[in-house]
Amino acid sequence: MPQPAMRIGHGYDLHRLEPPAPQGPGRPFILAGVLFEHPVGPVGHSDGDAVYHAVTDAILGAMGQPDIGQLFPDNDPRWEGHDSRAFLLEAARRLVSTGWVILNLDITVICERPKLSPCKVQMIANIAMALAIEPSQVNLKGKTHEKVDAVGEGRAIEVHVVTLIARAP
Ligand SMILES: [Zn+2]
Repeated sequence: MPQPAMRIGHGYDLHRLEPPAPQGPGRPFILAGVLFEHPVGPVGHSDGDAVYHAVTDAILGAMGQPDIGQLFPDNDPRWEGHDSRAFLLEAARRLVSTGWVILNLDITVICERPKLSPCKVQMIANIAMALAIEPSQVNLKGKTHEKVDAVGEGRAIEVHVVTLIARAP
């Protein structure tokens, strides 16, 4: 079978949002490497950056490689509170070493608050820099969950990512 010239990947992540210590188990609210002022933050083993996690999984999925939970198990003390940029960098390293390039990423972040728009440019820049691609290859949009269910009640954040990769020229 000839190798396909392009492959698609999908990444999904969800984190519960809780007050930070000492009131609760939440971590500082960080998304795509940007710290937001917010009374609740993600509960997670690493820093809980749901955008970096979903982007990492989309890239790994496109390559048909093990997912983020298999590569960086949440019972491994090495990843406790760790900057999730490391996961993204590992996905990028695997991408380059297997001869793929990213054509584009389309990211949808679903949360009631905080408003992402003031930090969107910075979030896109962080992702593009980690993956050594152009910001124009990264699209990021924020949506609310219309106040329904856990996400709509501000108790969770959800991220969906689709990516298209192609054989390196
Ligand atoms: Zn996650």
